[in-house]
Amino acid sequence: MFAFRTIKDYHNELQNGQTTFVEAVRFYINAAKESATLNAYLELYETEALERAATLDAQQAAGQWAGKLHGVVVGLKDVICHKGHKVSAASHILEGFVSIYNATATQQLLDAGAIIIGRQNCDEFAMGSSNENSAFGTVKNAIDPARVPGGSSGGSAVAVQAGLCMVSLGSDTGGSVRQPADFCGIVGLKPSYGRVSRYGLIAYASSFDQIGIFANTVADVALTLEVIAGADAFDSTVSEKPVPAYSTVLDETETDRKYKIACFQEALDHPGLDPEIKTATGAFIQEIKAAGHTVELIDFDLLEYIVPTYYVLTTAEASSNLSRYDGIKYGYRAKGDDMDLTQLYKTTRSQGFGKEVQRRIMLGSFVLSAGYFDAYFTKAQQVRRILSNKTKDIFGHFDAIISPTVPSPAFKFGEMSHDPVEMFLADIYTVFANLVGVPGISIPLFTHSNGMPFGLQIMASHFDEVSLLRISKTFSALRQPL
Ligand code: GLN
Repeated sequence: MFAFRTIKDYHNELQNGQTTFVEAVRFYINAAKESATLNAYLELYETEALERAATLDAQQAAGQWAGKLHGVVVGLKDVICHKGHKVSAASHILEGFVSIYNATATQQLLDAGAIIIGRQNCDEFAMGSSNENSAFGTVKNAIDPARVPGGSSGGSAVAVQAGLCMVSLGSDTGGSVRQPADFCGIVGLKPSYGRVSRYGLIAYASSFDQIGIFANTVADVALTLEVIAGADAFDSTVSEKPVPAYSTVLDETETDRKYKIACFQEALDHPGLDPEIKTATGAFIQEIKAAGHTVELIDFDLLEYIVPTYYVLTTAEASSNLSRYDGIKYGYRAKGDDMDLTQLYKTTRSQGFGKEVQRRIMLGSFVLSAGYFDAYFTKAQQVRRILSNKTKDIFGHFDAIISPTVPSPAFKFGEMSHDPVEMFLADIYTVFANLVGVPGISIPLFTHSNGMPFGLQIMASHFDEVSLLRISKTFSALRQPL
C-alpha cells in the first residue's frame, strides 16, 4: 500500500523508484471516493490529476525534477480560485461559476509541481465554525462522524486527517484553519497577514483573511509555506519581505535553544474552557518548563473584547465584500420576468445566500449604518488598535504566546447551531491573531477522554514564521518523536 509520513519521505520513495506519481494520485482519489460520506470534497479532478501525474512520471524518468512540491497531492478549499474549475464558496449564489484565473497561491503550487486533486467543502463564504453552514451538506469528522470537523475549512482539514490528500490549502479569517486542525488532530497554520497573497481568494473580511495550510507535520507546513508565500503584484497588501527557506531553517532547528513563552492568565481562567483542556494545557506548560524554557502567565484584560470586536469588523467588511453577488455579474440569478432591478437583486440574494451569511450581511450593514457607525465600527477599530499596540509590547518580551486553540473539543452536530452567539464565543482564542495580523498555528498534542484530539495554539510576532515553526517543532517533539 502507498504510505508516507512526510513529503520528504514521499520524495525519497519517488526517487528510489518505490512509488510513482500515478500511484500516489490513484491512492488518494480512491481513498476520497471510499470516504465519500465524510463529504470533504465537493469535486474530484480524477482524470486531470492522473494525466498530470503521468506527465510528472515521464519527466522524472527523463531526469527532470521540477519543484519543491513535485507530485505532492493537494486539495483546495472552495474559496480559492483554480482556473477552469468551479469555485462556489460552498454557496448557491455562485452556482455554475468557473474561475477564469488562478489564485496566486494556486499558481505557485502548480509551478512547484503539486497535483491538485479536488475542491473541498467548507462553510458558506468561510463563515462558521462547524461546517454546518455549507450549502452542500456538512463535513463529518473522520474520528467520530457524529461530530463536526470544525470550520470553516472543515473539508480541507478532514481531507488531511483521513488521508485523502497530503496537504490542503484553507483560509483563516478568525481561526478557520487552526480550529478545524485542532478538532481533527492535524497541524494548521495561519501565516502573518500579508505573508501569502490573497489574489484569487474569495473575500470574507479582507483585512483579516489569509490563506492557511493543513498538513500532517510541521515540516510539511513549512515546505508549503515556502512555496506559497511572498510578494505579488496582484495584491498590494502582501509584504515584499523576502521569504525565508522555512523548510531548511526548520531542519537546522537548534535543539538547545530555550524560548520565552507567554500565556494569558485570563485564557486559562476562562469559564467556557473545558476542564480537561485546561488541565492538559497546564500540565504541558510544566513540561515546557521542565525542558528548560520559560513560561510566564501574564494578564490580558482585553480578552472579553476580542470576539465582539472581531464580529463587528468582519461582518462590516463582509457586508461590503458580498454586495457584488447580485444576480447580474455572475453565479445564480432568481427566475421570473416580472421583477424590476431591485426586486431581482433582493430575490437573488434571499434565495442564493444561506441563513448565516444573510445574518452577517445584516449585522455588518447595521454596524456601518449612519446612526451606529461610531458606536460600533469606529469603536471596534479603536479596540483593534489597542490590541495591536499591546501585542507589539508582549512580543518585545516574549518569543511566543501559547493558549488552547479552542475552548472545547469537536462537538456533536446540532449541539451549538441553535445559538449563534455561543458559536461565536468559541472563537475566543483564535480571532486574536487575525485582529492583530500575527501568525498562529495549532499543533496536535492531546486527546480528550471522549476520544477527540485537541491542540495547542502558538502565536509569534509579525512575519516571524521561522520562530513559530521552530517552536512548534520543538514543542511537538516533547510529546512525540519527530
Ligand atoms: N469561525 C469564525 C467565523 O465564523 C472564523 C471563520 C474563518 O476564519 N473564516 O467567522
